[in-house]
Amino acid sequence: MCRSGRTEIRPETDFRADAQYQAAKMVCPCADCQAAGRVRRRAARTVRKKEDPRRKQNRELARQRITGRVEYFAPLVGVTYNRIFIKEQKTRWGSCSSLGNLNFNWKLILLDEELLDYVVVHELAHRKQMNHSQAFWAEVERVLPDYRARRRRLRECRV
Ligand SMILES: [Zn+2]
Repeated sequence: MCRSGRTEIRPETDFRADAQYQAAKMVCPCADCQAAGRVRRRAARTVRKKEDPRRKQNRELARQRITGRVEYFAPLVGVTYNRIFIKEQKTRWGSCSSLGNLNFNWKLILLDEELLDYVVVHELAHRKQMNHSQAFWAEVERVLPDYRARRRRLRECRV
């Protein structure tokens, strides 16, 4: 409990409970994700000691693209944010901290832009609702009326 007497928000626990953030068991049927899997396996075989130079490039590309989408959607959702971090989470596409920092998996840029946008709007909506309540989904739906279909597709993609 925080001082105000309200239940403390614990995004870590909350997010883990969301199936969207759990590693999907299915192999993604979309060509983009399968290509990503091939790149990863090849890199693991051939680049053992040196860091893959493409990794830094991928992250930088992800930073540019994701930042652009966050800047576009933040006013539509009607929120501000603090910092954007590009990470390589094993089981998450994104998360939002109570400080207003947005974390995104760089591999989002390997997915269709529709799915990237869904994750961006999802995390921005957490700036209004730090939960997955009806009010939260209403925020997402207001900006992306077809979010359910995008969410379903994203679930079929492994991180
Ligand atoms: Zn969420």
